[in-house]
Amino acid sequence: MQSHNHLAMQYKTDPPRLQAATDWPATREEGLQRLSDFVDRAGSHYAAERNYDFGPEQRTNVSVLSPYIRHRLISEAEVAAEVIAAHGLSASEKFIQEVCWRTYWKGWLESRPAIWDRYVQDVVHLKNADAQNDLMQQVRVACAGETGIACFDAWARELVETGYLHNHARMWFASIWIFTLKLPWQLGADFFMTHLLDGDPASNTLSWRWMCGLHTRGKTYLARSSNISEFTRGRFPQTERLAPFAEALTDDGQLENAQPVKPRKKLPSGDVVLLVTDEDLNPETLTFDDARVRSVVMLSGLEHGVTYAPRVTRFKSAARLDARARGARQFWCTFENLDCSDRHAAERLVQLANGLPFVCAEIPVGPTRAAFEPMLDVLNAQGLAVHFVRRDWDDAFWPHASNGFFQLKSKIPSVLQRLGISG
Ligand SMILES: Cc1cc2nc3c(=O)[nH]c(=O)nc-3n(C[C@H](O)[C@H](O)[C@H](O)COP(=O)(O)OP(=O)(O)OC[C@H]3O[C@@H](n4cnc5c(N)ncnc54)[C@H](O)[C@@H]3O)c2cc1C
Repeated sequence: MQSHNHLAMQYKTDPPRLQAATDWPATREEGLQRLSDFVDRAGSHYAAERNYDFGPEQRTNVSVLSPYIRHRLISEAEVAAEVIAAHGLSASEKFIQEVCWRTYWKGWLESRPAIWDRYVQDVVHLKNADAQNDLMQQVRVACAGETGIACFDAWARELVETGYLHNHARMWFASIWIFTLKLPWQLGADFFMTHLLDGDPASNTLSWRWMCGLHTRGKTYLARSSNISEFTRGRFPQTERLAPFAEALTDDGQLENAQPVKPRKKLPSGDVVLLVTDEDLNPETLTFDDARVRSVVMLSGLEHGVTYAPRVTRFKSAARLDARARGARQFWCTFENLDCSDRHAAERLVQLANGLPFVCAEIPVGPTRAAFEPMLDVLNAQGLAVHFVRRDWDDAFWPHASNGFFQLKSKIPSVLQRLGISG
């Protein structure tokens, strides 16, 4: 596993920046810079301070790396390697476990794709069925930050204005949405997906389900005034009107039967066309076995079942441009951009293949895969195969993600060792 210590060293001489969650340049360099700024605080400082939400202007106690990791501008493996090199696994255990929560959610959803499909259907149904009535009016009030619950209203506005919320704020917000305002969790998850720069189908949908007792059956999360006051350092000293208890929702048991994740396959040898999606904007660190990349197609517009806010769309576009520039330095071949929302996109892709097979970093369950699948059918019908590249990190962890997080957590040391990431 290649270390990125040299990049970290380059920045080590500068004082750490006050990490604010209001400015998000969408480049790999920025992700590496943030990692470098944060790495010294990823050990005991993180374990002690991570639950505090000091407000958008002060995010020194968390890494604010999620938009970068979510789009794989930087990878989980790079982050883990850097942090473990600085602290060792034992002192950075808490941080590494948090990184692995993302992996766990992704692996868990991968084996239960029906959960995503059902969520998308529920959102459409709720919005259509209730377009004119009271429920959608209440949702609009909540999303505008006009409920009269000061902390909740502040987080609703912060999310829209910055594209980010602290983890604890996400928990309090979701709890108040579900148990105090009694709104459907799916519409809260949709509000998050629209505005979060790190909006992720697995982490988001499954965290919302976890909040209402649908993940660990019966286990819910209740936001309490004293907890909010303590962990916002008194920014919200007293919150009235909060639900006194959080009764678990019950639903959809049939959907949860896990399908084993398909094993990783070897890539074909010879010339291939590389497809790059927003799910993995780090094409230069993919491994291609004996395949040779002859051209690259940057895909945009793969968005089924979500509507992104302009800020999120801008982040994704800028990140794609950055990936293209890095890829161009690596591959020395022709690059094309393809907007997949164009109805002729699949035919255009057939032309761009020029008879060669495609390779593509694996597209996990979610809006990108759902939008790509119909194109895949067209390509397959033309005899064109798409070979998916799964990263070592996912391949090593996902087999441990089919049940509870604690199963995966117990495997972290051995899996990291197998990946060559150890302190
Ligand atoms: C209701 C709800 C919805 C959420 N939706 C998303 C989402 O759409 N996308 C998303 O990336 N995260 C989501 N999270 C998880 C978590 O809140 C964010 O990953 C975290 O706040 C990002 O900030 P950070 O990078 O400063 O995290 P840090 O605390 O610095 O953690 C480091 C990294 O670990 C990962 N991580 C940390 N906590 C979690 C977690 N609970 N679940 C999964 N990964 C985690 C992230 O990659 C993060 O960048 C959600 C949590 C809740 C409760």
